[in-house]
Amino acid sequence: MLSNLKGLTFDDVILVPGYNGIKSRQNVTTTVELLGRTFGIPLVSSNMDTITELEMANAMTDLGGMAVLHRFLTIEDNVKMFEKLKNKDKVSVSIGIGQDGLERAEALIAVGASMICVDVAHGHSKEVNRSVKALREKHGSNILIIAGNVATYAGADYLASAGADVIKVGIGSGSVCSTRIKTGFGVPQLSALQDCRKVDRMIISDGGTRFPSDAVKALAAGADFVMLGGMLAGTDETPGSVIESEVNGSKIRFKRFRGMASKEAQDDFMGGMSDWKTAEGVSMDVVYKGPMKKVILDIMGGIRSGLTYCGALTIKDLQRKAQFMEITQAGRVEGTPHGMDRLDEPSSK
Ligand code: 5GP
Repeated sequence: MLSNLKGLTFDDVILVPGYNGIKSRQNVTTTVELLGRTFGIPLVSSNMDTITELEMANAMTDLGGMAVLHRFLTIEDNVKMFEKLKNKDKVSVSIGIGQDGLERAEALIAVGASMICVDVAHGHSKEVNRSVKALREKHGSNILIIAGNVATYAGADYLASAGADVIKVGIGSGSVCSTRIKTGFGVPQLSALQDCRKVDRMIISDGGTRFPSDAVKALAAGADFVMLGGMLAGTDETPGSVIESEVNGSKIRFKRFRGMASKEAQDDFMGGMSDWKTAEGVSMDVVYKGPMKKVILDIMGGIRSGLTYCGALTIKDLQRKAQFMEITQAGRVEGTPHGMDRLDEPSSK
């Protein structure tokens, strides 16, 4: 059966400018209130082993954002890492499903973790529901539960009714993800957000953010936070060292970035790839980018400016006022820098 739904993603749309009564983009606020916690910026570093460990978590929370530690380390090391954090109440830990997940959660809650992210590739599943329910029943409102990933209202609603406070949205949109190519499943990120936002919970857009404008569009489509993997890859604060190599005679510095379902990650953490499954992620080298602050300031500059193009003082205002227009490929090309860098410009003759 062919559904008549049309799936759109960031590049398919543009935000239509609206009247602006705000004097300066410095006057807008990007603060997000999440059940008693205040975040100065709506950005989250992804729980990938090449993105968020101690250094990234400290840097991200120092800038006002949220960080989610990855879970691909022993429970003991996970606890040690958590204990060293500067801003514990702004960092979530991650768990998978089943007994290991719950044991990890208990060990981390025992040392003060209060945000738990129950995170699997296909979150609209009975096992995630069980884990969320078990945590909620045991800890009540003492913990904040993030759960995902889903890409439909049905999935978001399922996790919300299990007891999740925040829903993580994104199936197949990540920069090092190959789920859609391998399985044919997923929902283009903008449509996924527009569907999931109907649930009465906060949502995190996870995957597919390549430019500051994607973050603005994700927020306008209903996300409360935007999780970043690829945009932070290659920065100083990511785990792993900078590798220098020669490409076509020039020295290039880069860092490793990989999908958690890539062959390389599965070899490291799951004892190799079993014959019955295929990798749903890829591994790559990304150009070294320097401090993550540069990337974050660029995104935040885009968000602040974006708010004023909409005449919105807050992200909630943006969500209320935003008007998306579907665009053509020609419109998209027009909207990317297309430098008129001819040396023989008529004016210079
Ligand atoms: P990015 O910001 O790089 O576009 O997306 C980051 C997100 O991609 C992560 O937060 C996670 O949800 C998703 N992701 C990470 N590794 C994999 C993988 O190996 N396979 C899939 N399908 N998604 C992944």
